[in-house]
Amino acid sequence: MAVFALVNKESKERQMNILEEAIQTRRKIHSRPEEGWTEFETSYLVSERLKSLGWQVYIGLDALVPEEVLGRNPELVEKAIERAAKQGVPAAFLESTQGYTGVVGTFDTGRQGPRTAFRFDMDCVQVQETSDANHVPVKEGFASQIPGMMHACGHDGHTAVGLALARWIVENKEDLCGSFVFIFQPAEEGTRGAGPIAAKGWVDDVNFFFAGHCGMYCQQGQLGIGAKGFFATSKLDVSFTGIPSHAGAYPERGRSALTAACSAVMMMQGISRNSEGDTRVSIGKLNAGEGRNVTPVHAAIQLETRGETEEVNNFLVKNVTNIVRGAAEAYEVKYEIKLVGHATTLTTTPKGVELLKRAAETVEGYKTVDIYNSIGGSEDVSLLFPTLTPDSSRNLREPRLHRGSQTL
Ligand SMILES: [Zn+2]
Repeated sequence: MAVFALVNKESKERQMNILEEAIQTRRKIHSRPEEGWTEFETSYLVSERLKSLGWQVYIGLDALVPEEVLGRNPELVEKAIERAAKQGVPAAFLESTQGYTGVVGTFDTGRQGPRTAFRFDMDCVQVQETSDANHVPVKEGFASQIPGMMHACGHDGHTAVGLALARWIVENKEDLCGSFVFIFQPAEEGTRGAGPIAAKGWVDDVNFFFAGHCGMYCQQGQLGIGAKGFFATSKLDVSFTGIPSHAGAYPERGRSALTAACSAVMMMQGISRNSEGDTRVSIGKLNAGEGRNVTPVHAAIQLETRGETEEVNNFLVKNVTNIVRGAAEAYEVKYEIKLVGHATTLTTTPKGVELLKRAAETVEGYKTVDIYNSIGGSEDVSLLFPTLTPDSSRNLREPRLHRGSQTL
């Protein structure tokens, strides 16, 4: 945490207390992993902690724009609310979320100065945590209590760091100026949660914006500052609907959703590369059909595109859309394409990168500080990064690409 170095007056003892608390917080969150848009227990923990520190807290529809929400499953949300209630999260809090997870906290030092925003993501991934006795969370008793869910991407650590930093700011407020916006974001996995928070305007007037991820290319003691490099990405759910018929008696009366889906998948492999930038098209899942002797009525594909630039990614989405439409027409079936996740490329300023570098170099424990220009992968924090001029940290944000969750 580079900001820890900006003011260095706190006593070692107090700093250790913050670290000890961060470890406990991380372990608590690790034991209760919640997937995207179901982070009710985590949101409650964050909200309570921020309030106790004197931060202004915004949750539910005060934190985000629901129309911009992508990839939220209402059934999973319902189950998560029930689970959170059983874990002791008060009904009043659950009601006040209006079904939407995520917390935004603000803190004003009361002195003039920059407005600085940080993003910390809170969701887990759908991975079963090992029960191996040598696995530290098993050994130390904080392994996941939720089957099939695990904080395998480290967002438990991000949330704990965010709360530690919030406490540090309060404890050092006399030495600080300006104000802070902390975004505890839901549903980073699948790039679903940043857009609705960005749309609420939380980063419109910030002077500095920072976000981080543990791991990536860095081992303990290494800091990597990402100057640019994320792929723009779109996550698409495609469905085909055909007409059933008996495959033996009246095959000509049926229209196969499965055949259309298979055809579309094969055609997607043939989308051309792009001279303007690197591309990826990944079809991760295809479910189709009802039974051996029934012309398949339903087919569903989960796929994603990634492009080195927003334009290159748009080129892929356009091709995928054309292929789906063409396959549907060829096999006389209906189709639907839903955008369920989106992120753009990373845009940072040299000033911000330099500030982080300078600060990190003064922090005890970092052995190396490196600048990365090609991070790979995708991150929806890119939607929150304000558009900044190269020589200024003032926000000059331009409209971002946002298509919402409508059918394309
Ligand atoms: Zn992650």
